[in-house]
Amino acid sequence: MVHATAPDGHGVSTAMTKVLYVAGWGRSGTTILDNLLGQVEGFVSTGELHYVWERGLRQGRDCGCGQPLRECETWTSTFASAFGGIEAIDPSAVVRLQDSARTRHALRALRAVRADRVTRTIPYARYLHRLYDGIGATTGARVIVDSSKYPTDGILAAGLEGYEVFVVHMVRDPRAVAFSWQRFKPTRDKKTDGGVLKRVGLVRSTMVWQVYNAVIARTVKAAVGDEHYQVLHYEQLASDPATVVDDLIRFVKEAPAAKPVFAGNEVELKVTHTASGNPGRFRTGTTAIRLDDEWRNSMPRWQRTIVTMLAFPMSVRLQYGG
Ligand SMILES: [Zn+2]
Repeated sequence: MVHATAPDGHGVSTAMTKVLYVAGWGRSGTTILDNLLGQVEGFVSTGELHYVWERGLRQGRDCGCGQPLRECETWTSTFASAFGGIEAIDPSAVVRLQDSARTRHALRALRAVRADRVTRTIPYARYLHRLYDGIGATTGARVIVDSSKYPTDGILAAGLEGYEVFVVHMVRDPRAVAFSWQRFKPTRDKKTDGGVLKRVGLVRSTMVWQVYNAVIARTVKAAVGDEHYQVLHYEQLASDPATVVDDLIRFVKEAPAAKPVFAGNEVELKVTHTASGNPGRFRTGTTAIRLDDEWRNSMPRWQRTIVTMLAFPMSVRLQYGG
């Protein structure tokens, strides 16, 4: 909920914390974006914050820094500040509440935001609110980058008092996305995933691509307003990351202070404390951002035809009609 400034009780207004919410369907490049934005001074990237309860707390998976999330100082301090400590939380109970944040509840969440009742009517929103408060207090960040991707989490964020929420809707050619979902990708979480990331079939991946992008373009945009919503094409980010990062810093009304220095498409990545995401979130050091368009050479023509048909009409709206 956008209230211009929050009074600090002494007649002086303090700037609100901002949330840059990254929405989109999987394999659209959100992890790369999250990694890059986490390098900007005053920004903290949390990765897919939605999964902190299930994967970070319940399953004991790793933080982006490489330590188990339950032992990472950034997260233990965050949970201490927000809830009085990790042990004070029952993550299973929060995971159950997250059911109210599924994509099918997006319209209900939007109505709650419009009625300014989001934390009263949707209990999960209260956890999200306190978690953002804890992240802000622990890191001192002015901008929290949450790349949970789900439409409903973005809508709920927009309804939280004390936060100015911006949404970057990341999209990628549906043929590239479908191709990527079919590939075997190694993961660090061998115990829980059997060593590879989940794979999704061509038809399902494209149907969800269609639904996700339509819901985000309609409801998430409506929740934050036109001025706080922007579409970002993966292909644009991969081709010119330096310009995209600059644009996004301006989009959230921040000064272009200390930000990652690019040499062409190469950038130096420092450790981030991401809660969950694609294995690329563990990457540090000199990293080249390159356009992954392997599908153009390796995807059979019949598969491209199926995806092109199933992705219509959203593909045209997102300029992937060619
Ligand atoms: Zn960490």
